[in-house]
Amino acid sequence: PSHRRVKTPRRPALKKPAPSGLKDPVGVYCRVRPLSRPDQECCIEVINENTVQIHPPDGYRIFRNGEYRETQYSFKEVFGTLVPQKELFDVVAKPLVEDLIRGKNGLLFTYGVTGSGKTHTMTGSPGDGGLLPRCLAMIFNSIGPFQAKRFVFKLDDKNGVDVQCEVDALLERQKRDAMPVPKTPSGKRQVDPEFADMINVQDHCKAEEVDEDNVYSVFVSYIEIYNNYIYDLLEETPFDLIKPKPPQSKILREDQNHNMYVTGCTEVEVKSTEEAFEVFWKGQKKRRIANTQLNRESSRSHGVFIIKLAQAPLDADGDNVLQEKEQITLSQLSLVDLAGSERTNRTKAEGNRLREAGNINQSLMTLRTCIEVLRENQMCGTNKMVPYRDSKLTHLFKNYFDGEGKVRMIVCVNPKAEDYEESLQVMRFAEMTQEVEVARPVDRPLCGLTPGRRFRNQDLPGEILLPSFPPLPSCELLDINDDQTLPKLAEVLEERHKLRQKLSEEFAKNALTFKTILRELDSSIMSKENYVQGKLSEKEKIITGQKTELERMEKKIKTLEYKIEILEKTATIYEEDKRHLQQELESQSQKLQRQASDKRRLEARLQGMVAETTMKWEKECERRVAAKQLEMQNKLWVKDEKLKQLKAIVTEPKSEKPERPSRERDREKPIQRSISPPPVPNAPPVRLRHRRSRSAGERWVDHKPPSNLPTDTVMQPHVPHAITVAAASEKALAKCDKYMLTHQELASDGEIETKLIKGDVFKTRGGGQAVQFTEIETLKQESPTGRKRRSSPSSADPPADAANAEWTDVETRCSVAVEMRAGSALGPGYQHHAQPKRRKP
Ligand code: ADP
Ligand code: MG
Repeated sequence: PSHRRVKTPRRPALKKPAPSGLKDPVGVYCRVRPLSRPDQECCIEVINENTVQIHPPDGYRIFRNGEYRETQYSFKEVFGTLVPQKELFDVVAKPLVEDLIRGKNGLLFTYGVTGSGKTHTMTGSPGDGGLLPRCLAMIFNSIGPFQAKRFVFKLDDKNGVDVQCEVDALLERQKRDAMPVPKTPSGKRQVDPEFADMINVQDHCKAEEVDEDNVYSVFVSYIEIYNNYIYDLLEETPFDLIKPKPPQSKILREDQNHNMYVTGCTEVEVKSTEEAFEVFWKGQKKRRIANTQLNRESSRSHGVFIIKLAQAPLDADGDNVLQEKEQITLSQLSLVDLAGSERTNRTKAEGNRLREAGNINQSLMTLRTCIEVLRENQMCGTNKMVPYRDSKLTHLFKNYFDGEGKVRMIVCVNPKAEDYEESLQVMRFAEMTQEVEVARPVDRPLCGLTPGRRFRNQDLPGEILLPSFPPLPSCELLDINDDQTLPKLAEVLEERHKLRQKLSEEFAKNALTFKTILRELDSSIMSKENYVQGKLSEKEKIITGQKTELERMEKKIKTLEYKIEILEKTATIYEEDKRHLQQELESQSQKLQRQASDKRRLEARLQGMVAETTMKWEKECERRVAAKQLEMQNKLWVKDEKLKQLKAIVTEPKSEKPERPSRERDREKPIQRSISPPPVPNAPPVRLRHRRSRSAGERWVDHKPPSNLPTDTVMQPHVPHAITVAAASEKALAKCDKYMLTHQELASDGEIETKLIKGDVFKTRGGGQAVQFTEIETLKQESPTGRKRRSSPSSADPPADAANAEWTDVETRCSVAVEMRAGSALGPGYQHHAQPKRRKP
């Protein structure tokens, strides 16, 4: 009968085992590093394996007035200068790794001033690896053969873990391998010689209890806390030489088990010590570079290396991981290299760096405060709030103190005298920390204590109960007469022979049965094979068919792709053409528009010119017509006059001498008299009898020849009681005593000048009428630009001084009383105006 071991069903792994109620104090260890130089003054001695003694250096004794006090501090264990890294590891870290493998959390940190050996203890130096590489080595030594394939375990972004089947994991691996970057170090690779020595940990330290029915995966992450900001040291950021991107800080979150975690932090699955340490080393390099680039005080940052171990049981066959999330246990070990605990003034930091340094001190201060409060709460039974949240460092490890997990601290001290004061502070803090107790995690029973399913195939073959041969009696013949021994022997031998026969029969039978079974099996296998073969060939045929089909399709695809390409090219060309044509169209239409507007402008200009020219010409024509008319009228008038005079001569033979203008009238116009030229010898032969009396009211004859153009002057002549006539009329003159002729002519500037020629009407002795011209009013327009237009009724509105000449001129003109006779058309006053004179008989 087979003895396959049947496993008892596994108790589901508790995410958070119920606290046992037991508490352990924080394990505080002290390590004293050797002095750098033998001549240095030393202030710390190791008294025994639990105690150090610290005494003030010489200078202090004098300074402190002879007060000399030695203090002793006790720890769980004190490591002297000669203690090798391995011993430290065995005592301090190994239990933590064992816990990790058993699914429990742990926290280990080094505390001390800068240069006290924290990094040396945690990381180590070439040839002398510290706790971190040793922890990694131990983990992989222990779980090495039981590791899950890459990507079987997947950490989610909520500090949890998931499991996927190997096929999915394989697919993901392939997908990852297809991507060139970022490359994860794996398999055979050149190990950086810089740290090769550190991980060359020869002692094959191994956890004693490893559940071999579980599969394991290790994930590591490495963060730095600086200035109360958290940076992911494993984050893959594209390196930019020109403008290096400043690192992005991360935030903390609490998962459902109240553990704090860094969100979005890179967690690298690693499969060997080398790989894990390489990841750490990469982070370390990045940390160094960042510190240099950003001018940080490197001793002021905390480095946190987190090792996560995921484990899940195999299924009942021992082949695959149980695909149940609840069965996965995730434990973590945090290794923390704290910033230097010294006070700021020690490193003469200034300005910005001082502020940052202050902040870092702040986080260590918070750590101290938290531990103080914890201790007080535990010792006095109080329930004070622990200010974990005051700094990222304490917040991150809150659950270690509050919840459960092993916490261990290594206090590093440099025994040199200069560090005395700071070392004292460190000792005090360390001693206080020891009094804090942390809940002990519940032990999880491990199922791996007995050989598990992994070894089911190595089970012993089933025992077959064989009937034993009867033992041979002693066949020694001591006596010649012994007749018993031989028959007994014969009997036994007989019996044995029978048994043998029976057995061989049974064997033959069994062999036969077995043979038949074998044959049967064989034939069935054969038939199965045939069947399978048939199926196989069938499938192969199908596959070949599909392959050809595939090829055909591929060809088709290629053709189509080619066509598409061509079409695309054509489309591009057409599009290009279209674009060009559109552009051309646009430019043409723009040109057209431009031309149209040009045309419009030209048209407008031409129209304006035409209008102007037309007006000018019209005016000119009118003016010329008017002038001609005037001239003709004058001629007519002169002829008329001549005829009249002739008539008068004929009808009135006793002609009288023409009379000079009367004295009376001269007196009326004294200015005229004084300036007027002497009487003209050929004065008109008209005798002015008398003037019409003024009292009768002046009556005007307003002679406006029809050829006149209307003046567009503002000042318009207004003649009261006027008889307006278009041609000289004797009838009208007979009724009036004033005469005004509106005369127009072209002035030298091309403008029409309108003149109002006024005169008095007298009765001639012959019974006719005579006009004596007295004044001329000129209406003229000038434009302020070249062609001036002006309306100046010169006598009515004489300009003050400059017009004297004009005044004189007018006076001259007006002083002449002209009595017209035939042939004397021009009066002397008009001569220099070259103005034709018109009179009314
Ligand atoms: P910290 O990290 O506390 O600032 P380090 O670990 O960098 O200090 O130590 C400063 C120097 O002292 C390093 O050169 C280191 O090699 C040396 N050192 C520290 N501790 C020891 C030790 N226990 N044995 C030998 N050298 C040590
Ligand atoms: Mg350091």
